[in-house]
Amino acid sequence: MSERLVVIGGDAAGMSAASQARRLKGPDELEIVAFERGHFTSFSACGIPYWVGGDVAHRDDLIARTPEEHRARDIDLRMRTEVTRIDVPGQRVLARDLESGAEAWTGYDKLVIATGARPVRPRMPGIDAPGVHGVQTLDDGQALLDTLTATEGRRAVVVGAGYIGVEMAEALCQRGYRVTVVNRGAEPMATLDPDMGRLVHDAMSGFGMEMVNHAEVTEILTHDDGQVRAVATKDAEYPADVVVLGMGVQPETTLAREAGLPLGEYGGLLTDLAMRVRGYENIWAGGDCVEVLDLVSGRERYIALGTHANKHGQVIGSGAGGGYATFPGVVGTAVSKVCDLEIARTGLREKDARAAGLRYVTATIESTHSAGYYPGAAVMTVKMLAEYRTGRLLGVQIVGREGAAKRVDVAAVALTAGMTVEQVVSLDLGYAPPFSPVWDPVLVAARKAARAVRTG
Ligand SMILES: Cc1cc2nc3c(=O)[nH]c(=O)nc-3n(C[C@H](O)[C@H](O)[C@H](O)COP(=O)(O)OP(=O)(O)OC[C@H]3O[C@@H](n4cnc5c(N)ncnc54)[C@H](O)[C@@H]3O)c2cc1C
Repeated sequence: MSERLVVIGGDAAGMSAASQARRLKGPDELEIVAFERGHFTSFSACGIPYWVGGDVAHRDDLIARTPEEHRARDIDLRMRTEVTRIDVPGQRVLARDLESGAEAWTGYDKLVIATGARPVRPRMPGIDAPGVHGVQTLDDGQALLDTLTATEGRRAVVVGAGYIGVEMAEALCQRGYRVTVVNRGAEPMATLDPDMGRLVHDAMSGFGMEMVNHAEVTEILTHDDGQVRAVATKDAEYPADVVVLGMGVQPETTLAREAGLPLGEYGGLLTDLAMRVRGYENIWAGGDCVEVLDLVSGRERYIALGTHANKHGQVIGSGAGGGYATFPGVVGTAVSKVCDLEIARTGLREKDARAAGLRYVTATIESTHSAGYYPGAAVMTVKMLAEYRTGRLLGVQIVGREGAAKRVDVAAVALTAGMTVEQVVSLDLGYAPPFSPVWDPVLVAARKAARAVRTG
């Protein structure tokens, strides 16, 4: 008899899971029903800044697979349908058709929760005013583009200076806006240590962006017609014809909480290594709605990234499709850019290491992305953390121009392998003058960190 797999959430994690399960089991053995409350499936939110900025011409370029393509693979995809309850003992979900309002229960043998994240949007006056935009979905991106087209003014304020904030700052600059980034933290890119964030700050100022730190937004001010006119903090007002919110995300786990499923410290679902919700044989969860194991600190963390969501989906689909796969955890690798500045990080920041009870040394070096004499050699700063005494690599942050971001992948591999900085020094990395100095910047940082460990 055929089993039924129900998937809640039709983007990266959910549809990767559904697709992988379908690869392993045909429709005679496994019926797959997926619910998506939005208008799109399998789209790249990661591409929204580049679409808004004009590097990507069309919205549809960001869609990896349409609902029709999923249905052609025998996935019963129900768009604009929101799951409003999970009845765990009854093995069923209640879903509402958002167009007709009709509600119905659907039973499941296996359930996948892939509800993603919800953007932080604090209640404050003016937050819902016309001209204030999030950038979570393709609908959000289109609404922002519509505002940019309709707006005569040319001043934009971005609230938040995480990677989405800085990427949107670049997009708005490309659209010809004068951009102010209002940031609650000490420096932009709180996923870096502040000394490395400072480099991002300096570069953004060099690109003509105004970067305001230590500034908590208290209110969005509007004109008489309700349209946004400024962003207010305790100390100042920043004029704005358009406001983009990039204040971070939280796991979308309301349904899971109401169903009594286990949540962690950050509000994300807790799973085992096969991405099964802990304590539940037939319920899986993945993507932005779960917490992940940090392989460096050994703790659960909340890191909302598409790279994890897609891998979770594969693992879940393998399990739900009768196969076997696991997701061992992450080292916290992330890359982004603002204009031609590349920003990369992996592993622990200083404050993460302290929170984990680790003693550490740091080494920061400046080098170039190619041989110093090679035309266009651009400065790159690498910061490395290593454990006191053992020399185990704990984290790497890189800020620089061309070639900076993907260099962090070497460090991600070294972290995953549990290497010491002494071992990193001996890595056989590629060298030719156009690509690196004879001592790659990562190796130079490792050599300095190894010295610090020895003398530590
Ligand atoms: C602007 C931007 C840039 C980004 N850039 C990067 C990047 O460069 N690199 C990177 O790794 N990551 C990036 N990300 C993050 C990445 O997009 C997410 O991590 C990824 O989309 C998570 O996939 P997911 O399937 O877990 O969740 P989502 O993509 O959020 O999908 C969850 C889906 O579930 C649906 N849903 C939720 N609740 C219900 C319900 N009750 N019933 C029915 N449907 C429901 C939602 O409508 C949504 O479509 C970026 C995100 C944004 C917003």
